[in-house]
Amino acid sequence: MPITKKYKKIVIGNWKQNPTTHEAAKNIVKHIKKTASELKKTITVLCPPFVFLQNLGKGEQPFSKGAQDVSVFESGSHTGEVSAEMLKDCEVEYTIVGHSERRKAGETDAMVASKIKALHFAGVTAVMCIGEDNRDSGGQYLDTLKNQIKHSLAGVEKKNLSHLVVAYEPVWAIGATQAMSGADVHETAIYIKKVLADLFGHEYVVKVPILYGGSVTFRNAGEIVKEGHVDGLLVGRESINPEGFNEILKVVDAL
Ligand code: PEP
Repeated sequence: MPITKKYKKIVIGNWKQNPTTHEAAKNIVKHIKKTASELKKTITVLCPPFVFLQNLGKGEQPFSKGAQDVSVFESGSHTGEVSAEMLKDCEVEYTIVGHSERRKAGETDAMVASKIKALHFAGVTAVMCIGEDNRDSGGQYLDTLKNQIKHSLAGVEKKNLSHLVVAYEPVWAIGATQAMSGADVHETAIYIKKVLADLFGHEYVVKVPILYGGSVTFRNAGEIVKEGHVDGLLVGRESINPEGFNEILKVVDAL
């Protein structure tokens, strides 16, 4: 499901390395399914670990399937890797790339760019994560964001921007106790759009959804999306808590 006139918002759940069993994965899906099917304007994307992708079911579902990573390679001798074509074959529509936890494990902007191109080649939408480690009063973090965007999108074709989502996730707000304020999210989202427009041209980037991620709960979800003027959310911890995630979906859909 792409963002269209009907679907105006998108909420992505990044399950990270959770849960431990197939049974528990199925249980999360079961509890989210009903709420997702009642949403009028919001696309739900569930990104479990690879091994649980099949637990999300086959065919028509009230949510889209997502993955948390992808190989830069098409196929071959790359032990442990999962290709974009394999994900496509599992009906994956969205894939997170450049998450700060993967960047910490060595993923570079150049690797992110290769992954985005591999996804585009396979027809999968890339959810490109960017975010500064810290905010400084001199505004140095804006250069960090600009460089991440520029280098992570190197070689990405304009025509494929319809298969791109940008998730702004300030690293200091991930796994924290407090999310960023809606006003600060708004300011940063404007800056991200400007950098994208300077790179590709305004007409190509107006439809690129900008999401916020970092300590989102049902309590702050509405304020962040409304005041932040973003197209949705990337949710970590709360995405494996069906009650909390369902509330986030409802709050966003009601805006
Ligand atoms: C994340 O890791 O993408 C994330 C947003 O985590 P949390 O919601 O737990 O801060």
